[in-house]
Amino acid sequence: MLKFYNSLTRREEVVSPFDKKVIRMYSCGPTVYYYPHIGNFRAYLFMDNIRRVLKYNGFKIDGVMNITDVGHMTSDADEGEDKMLVASQREHKSPWEVAKFYTDIFMKDAKALNIDLPEHIVPATSVIKEMIVFVEGLLKKGFAYETSKGIYFDIEKFPEYGALSGMDIREKLAGARIDVDEEKHSPYDFVLWVKAPKEHIMQWESPWGMGYPGWHIECSVIGDKYLGQHIDIHTGGVDHKPVHHENEIAQSNCFYGHQVVKMWMHLEFLQVDGGKMSKSLGNIYTLADLEKRGYSAEDFRFFYFLAHYSKQQNFTFDALDMAKNTLKSIKNLVKEHQKGEKTLDTSEFEQEFLDSINDNLNMPKAIACVQRMLKQERSKDVYQTFLKFNQVLGIKLEDEDVPQEIAALAQKRWQAKKDKNFALADELRMKIDSLGFVVKDSKDGYEIIKK
Ligand code: AMP
Ligand code: ZN
Repeated sequence: MLKFYNSLTRREEVVSPFDKKVIRMYSCGPTVYYYPHIGNFRAYLFMDNIRRVLKYNGFKIDGVMNITDVGHMTSDADEGEDKMLVASQREHKSPWEVAKFYTDIFMKDAKALNIDLPEHIVPATSVIKEMIVFVEGLLKKGFAYETSKGIYFDIEKFPEYGALSGMDIREKLAGARIDVDEEKHSPYDFVLWVKAPKEHIMQWESPWGMGYPGWHIECSVIGDKYLGQHIDIHTGGVDHKPVHHENEIAQSNCFYGHQVVKMWMHLEFLQVDGGKMSKSLGNIYTLADLEKRGYSAEDFRFFYFLAHYSKQQNFTFDALDMAKNTLKSIKNLVKEHQKGEKTLDTSEFEQEFLDSINDNLNMPKAIACVQRMLKQERSKDVYQTFLKFNQVLGIKLEDEDVPQEIAALAQKRWQAKKDKNFALADELRMKIDSLGFVVKDSKDGYEIIKK
């Protein structure tokens, strides 16, 4: 039984999709104003981990991730400047050029990390019309109000505000300082739509004049447009809990009049040398920085598996070295098993691996199980079981030019031959051939060659 920890109910729950067939999953995506760092990628490896484990359990997924290319202020609340604007001034580029440049880097890095990306990746600026309709809806239903600066969500109208992060908003309000903006009903009311000053670079027509969206509205609207009124799983970093996700819950639940997201999953932060990653400490690393020091994206992918997502993970180069070496030895052992002669029943390992990943993604335990299995006498059964586990691990195997899909087909064909199902074996050989690869059999195994 697959169980994940739900941050909203604060307990582990069995995963059961609303419509029984497909898991609808939303992941908060990157703000494309600067190079994504390895902390950000811990969040997307977490998303990848959930997706692959769901698939391993036979679920289909309809997944969405937003790309924030407007409206995210330098503070997660509404203060400061738009991050895209700051980047556009820094780099003397239009915000569109900035967004394209960093989105491309994000996608390239995500590919190098073998991240299983969601089915829909949606820039915030592609749903401006829908955002306006959503904000109009909230106004009409009485959950929002207009000031000279924009449209604000009225948190007094949503008594459950604060439930996710466990804050008592009434207590907070009682002790709150008077907001600098006297037009706001409460200091915690947040902006849905900002009325733009003339010189603001990104602005769109709206019923309230020219303007641009607040940051939080994009996730409610993109979730609504692509997944509808019921979302099974929503992911993000813990930093989003107290502001961004509280606001998203308030908007969506009020718009629909019911709870939209069933399960919230939050990832704890990656620390560096036991502390926060920050520009002033000079300890923000990108994948390119790691590569310069001789570590591949895959080394970092494997590093992710060595800590539980609900705990902070401490990044040091010693720890990355350990991950790199462990990964190397795993790959070598897998190669040895590929040529192994012994027959072995791996069902106990299969069960343990499944129990570990299904226990709220206990990857350290799953990896320990993989390592124990690889210590067995060399056997093709181990190799085959590893390939199965690798649907979750996503490790690139020896023939770097051979995609996992081809490797899996070749393995299936090998099994079909062993089972004397030659018709299936032939069919699979032709399929592999049509995809540009040839399998060559030898006495004790096979080789995959790119045509
Ligand atoms: P941003 O691009 O700033 O919107 O952040 C993208 C994602 O990275 C969010 O889900 C954040 O929670 C996450 N994130 C940022 N810093 C870290 C970190 N040090 N460790 C883990 N996740 C992080
Ligand atoms: Zn979001």
